[in-house]
Amino acid sequence: MSSLSEKLMSQPAKAEGGSRIKQNSINTQDQKRIATIKTAVLAEGDRIRAKYPILQHQDAIGMAILLFSMAGAVLTGWAYLEGVLAWYVTIPVIAIFLSFTHELEHDLIHYMYFRKNKFMHNLMMALVWICRPSTINPWLRRHLHLHHHKHSGTETDLEERAITNGERFTPLRLLMMLDLELSVVLRILKVPKHLRLKALMRGAIGNFPLASAFYIGWHAYVAYWAVEAAAWAVGYSVPWPAFVTPELVATANTVAVLIFAPNLLRSFSINFISSNMHYFGDIEDGNFVQQCQVLNSKWFIIPHLFCFNFGSTHGIHHFVVRDPFYIRQMTAKKAHEVMRANGVRFNDLGTFKRANRWSAKEQGQQEAGYQAA
Ligand SMILES: [Zn+2]
Ligand SMILES: [Zn+2]
Repeated sequence: MSSLSEKLMSQPAKAEGGSRIKQNSINTQDQKRIATIKTAVLAEGDRIRAKYPILQHQDAIGMAILLFSMAGAVLTGWAYLEGVLAWYVTIPVIAIFLSFTHELEHDLIHYMYFRKNKFMHNLMMALVWICRPSTINPWLRRHLHLHHHKHSGTETDLEERAITNGERFTPLRLLMMLDLELSVVLRILKVPKHLRLKALMRGAIGNFPLASAFYIGWHAYVAYWAVEAAAWAVGYSVPWPAFVTPELVATANTVAVLIFAPNLLRSFSINFISSNMHYFGDIEDGNFVQQCQVLNSKWFIIPHLFCFNFGSTHGIHHFVVRDPFYIRQMTAKKAHEVMRANGVRFNDLGTFKRANRWSAKEQGQQEAGYQAA
């Protein structure tokens, strides 16, 4: 663990809140609005905790959700292997279980579980990573994510920019949300030449070893079937090397249903929602009112199924970091009322046309250049 992580681990429970972020430089109207929203959300969280005392057992609840999700994913996979479930049921059901582990990872990044027990905390971090092998090392993501809280929507917010926040909406952007490895390759051309090696090394370290193995396997799988399809179209039989046996292809198909597809479905869903509910480029640094919109339109029900309603509740988290994901969901009704009354936008679908800019005036603005921060 890095020294920053060590330092944060030893801090009191409320330390990881957005409340530590300095907002002296933002407009005074929004400073007041932020204070109002924070007060209301904290009060609602307190009310819910008082009403359901079981919520005090946060470590046990986090671990129980993790074990439940892992057991759910494994049992679903087993049912598929036994021929009980079809692939088109197996994939979304596993993706839903994995989406809970993603929320746990994010809560762990903010030290919400086993803050005082480093072994258990790090064990949970390792398990939520193993559950989602297409993602970067969570200990490294922690630094990107805490930076995101401080400077969301600015040039240095690499966490959001890596999932295409701020770019023009094109089919290529959709593809980049699906395949983050491809996204790195495509984005590297925007990095100044002298910084490319450094940026690639940083990406390789973050992806090692799980995501690198995941994407090598996924790309090999796609390449195999692309070649087979092309050969079939022209009536040609591909002379594959001897190790490409029918058994290997059958195993790869099983891995695709149990691992590749659920992970890609889950990560595409959250990348799509997250990169479009955060604003980028023309907002005040540290202004929570402008950083996020609430995206809870019924049009987004399907991606929300695979990312625990992220577009509806992540904006609340920018104001109050303290609450784990399930309490945040319970505060949403009250939080949305006060957020709506204090300038937070709801279902601003124009963001898709504006490359996630806050203001329509900025629509013609260039996408921000890549900066290796
Ligand atoms: Zn966070
Ligand atoms: Zn955010």
